[in-house]
Amino acid sequence: MKSLNVFFFGFLMLAAMTACRHSGRPVPVQESGEETKSKKAMVVYIQPLGDVDPEYIRVVMNAIEKFYGFGSELRPVVEPTDDLLAASKTRYDAEKILARFNSNDHVLVLTEKHFATRKGNIPEWGIFGLGYLPGKVCTVSTYRFENGVSRDKVLERLEKIALHELGHNLGLPHCDNDPYCLMSDARGTIKTVDRCKVWLCDRCRDEKDHSHEDHQVAGKEIRLKDHGKVFPFQRFT
Ligand SMILES: [Zn+2]
Ligand SMILES: [Zn+2]
Repeated sequence: MKSLNVFFFGFLMLAAMTACRHSGRPVPVQESGEETKSKKAMVVYIQPLGDVDPEYIRVVMNAIEKFYGFGSELRPVVEPTDDLLAASKTRYDAEKILARFNSNDHVLVLTEKHFATRKGNIPEWGIFGLGYLPGKVCTVSTYRFENGVSRDKVLERLEKIALHELGHNLGLPHCDNDPYCLMSDARGTIKTVDRCKVWLCDRCRDEKDHSHEDHQVAGKEIRLKDHGKVFPFQRFT
């Protein structure tokens, strides 16, 4: 009889809990219309690392809005700290920058500082940009492409590299389908960047249109790419 009482009491408790759950505030249901709206409202935060020419920032924000149709918002300048330096202490480590600014928001870290990453046996290989594939954060440095060319050329390169790195975040790998495609691998040379158009080939455009936010979940294994280098599966935490 005692065990039956316990059973009965348990049943009552369960019934009460179930009732409580249903008598609480209504659970908001996400309508498909809302989802479409939030996708359209995707925002890429521009994070200047150290002082950045305001025109550089404007160019990147305009390019993101025009090319991908995303919103963009400027975050306050963050000064680079010594812990972001590479081992030589003469330049910054782009991988450390990605790790520092990685979050659930889409962030593009823009800097005029010199940065590098390891490439094979070379511990500090100067690069134009680096981004998680796929992921939420990428970074671009103007340091290696702003000297000895016209202002217009610098802005054109900046636009292409920013859109390329963001393309990696959106799930686009390097493209060998068309030499003019924005997702071509620069292989360490600015000539590739200059050759590319501000344009995605059909294959990359298809891939972009089918990529989804769900692919960019923190904790999953991803590849880390830069111009001229493919990292074999970096952990994204
Ligand atoms: Zn392509
Ligand atoms: Zn790339």
